[in-house]
Amino acid sequence: MNDLTLVYSDEFKKHVMDRAHPESPERLEHTINAARELLVECKETIEIIKPETIEKEDLLSVHVPDHIAKIEAISKAGGGIITLDTTLNEHTYDIAKLAAGATKLAVKVVDENYSKTSFAVVRPPGHHAETNSAGGFCFFNNIAVAAEWLISRKGYRRVVILDIDHHFGNGTSHIFYHRKDILYVSIHAHPMYSYPGSGYPTEIGIVEGMGYNVNIPLLPGTESIDWLHSLIFASNIIEQFQPEIILVSVGFDALSGDPVGILNLNNNAFFGAGYIINQLANRLCKGKISCTLEGGYKIELLEEVSKKFFKGLLGYKPKIMEKLQEIRISNHTNSMLSQVKRALTDYWEF
Ligand SMILES: [Zn+2]
Repeated sequence: MNDLTLVYSDEFKKHVMDRAHPESPERLEHTINAARELLVECKETIEIIKPETIEKEDLLSVHVPDHIAKIEAISKAGGGIITLDTTLNEHTYDIAKLAAGATKLAVKVVDENYSKTSFAVVRPPGHHAETNSAGGFCFFNNIAVAAEWLISRKGYRRVVILDIDHHFGNGTSHIFYHRKDILYVSIHAHPMYSYPGSGYPTEIGIVEGMGYNVNIPLLPGTESIDWLHSLIFASNIIEQFQPEIILVSVGFDALSGDPVGILNLNNNAFFGAGYIINQLANRLCKGKISCTLEGGYKIELLEEVSKKFFKGLLGYKPKIMEKLQEIRISNHTNSMLSQVKRALTDYWEF
């Protein structure tokens, strides 16, 4: 069994929105280079495999037919605009399907014990794609498609989607907002200051999904230690949920200096995050973790941060974990977590 399997294709570079757009093809080169370096440096078994495209029925499990038809039509006509910052070229439909297929394949290799953990190095990202709309650089919701496949086709009963991208994954949250078999937990920049303008702690789900949508918003400038304390707070809820696998929407846009971000993390925050998720999965679900790439736009930092995250996922313990014991959470993040506790006190123990 591989320790880490990455799913990647150069085909992902064919989808281009605008030469100056932050969601650029170059992003992926840095992340996949990090994996190639680890292949040489680490004793663990790491493999890079090629994706396959997604089946139409998988897309239909989370998107309405009109949405899929619209993306296909605009793309096949040579491209066009969905929103000001989300545009298509002639390859976008095929490449968005390949990204969803790659995310599903990443989940599949973990489900089938081919690999302990996996990471789909994809673009376009997916977590802002709603059932019936594209937006925020996303067209199809890659991780939602993969999670739904586990539930409806593989008989899973409890899947967690942990979203550590800088932005609230409105699409993923809303697609499963009424469900208790898929727990959505997101740590993101506060919606008062950041896209998509939703993701408040009081958005906890509806009907039987109440309590199964956990939003942890953080104020502008939040630093690594607070972010990791928030992740440990989230881990407590995930622990109570007892998932059979941990799916992760990974975005590196919370790094300090990201052109679209307002949080202030350093690379070691992601090393710590990988490690915390690794330990959580070892305790809860035989180490099963499958990640997909969402955002992260500070090109020159992506190789180093990806490498650190992968190392954390493989179980290497970073020094920042010791600091986490010593340095207390700040008052403003503590007050955010108190709001989350108040909203969810009927559903989880704190
Ligand atoms: Zn993002």
